[in-house]
Amino acid sequence: MCRVAQVLLVEDDADIRRALIRALTDLNHAVSSTVSGLEALQLVLETRPDLVVLDLGLPDVDGREVLRMLRAVSQVPVIVATARDHEPTIVDALNRGADDYLTKPFSAAQLDARIRAVLRRSGGTEPAGQTLVVGGLRVDVGTREVTVDGTPVDLSPREFDLLCYLAARPGAVVHRRELVTEVWRQPYGGADKTLDVHLSWLRRKLGEDARTPRYLHTVRGVGVRLMAPAGPEPT
Ligand code: CA
Repeated sequence: MCRVAQVLLVEDDADIRRALIRALTDLNHAVSSTVSGLEALQLVLETRPDLVVLDLGLPDVDGREVLRMLRAVSQVPVIVATARDHEPTIVDALNRGADDYLTKPFSAAQLDARIRAVLRRSGGTEPAGQTLVVGGLRVDVGTREVTVDGTPVDLSPREFDLLCYLAARPGAVVHRRELVTEVWRQPYGGADKTLDVHLSWLRRKLGEDARTPRYLHTVRGVGVRLMAPAGPEPT
């Protein structure tokens, strides 16, 4: 919800993959990627992306076969992105369950618009314009702007993601493992120190410290709880 969408990009061309990851991340999508059709199937089941962008010409399995196998196990929206502009190929991909297609080359802006359109049609969440309010803290999910008591707070992208994730779950203790896997998209153990460092930066920017917390409360050995300063005591 703090991102427009979690996108799985299946693309074996390294230049296209890098460019799309950068562009989609700048457009507030969380992007994971693979070059392998078989790994894509596994990732869909394990990471449950909001949407898949699927190249057809893949090194291990043809994208249309990936689509067929994917549809046997998942209804995740799929946009086919391919250099093949042969009409029967496109018709075949749509018949196999693709929700939309793009022929290469295409702009990131067009892909972004198609992603949003497909998510709207599939009832997915497009959080643009939504604002999370916890006490005097306001987190605008669409513009990624944060204010505390009306004063703008300048956050790095990762600090924003962390704060947004917590602000979407006010009052709940969010486990460290969940923060590492959901905000950093890394296996637990890979970013624990990084989490502590970002929490400390975030605290400083919100104008508090660990000893006298206002919004960010550490639950030792468990995780973090974000709550309004005058909020009710947790039960
Ligand atoms: Ca390819």
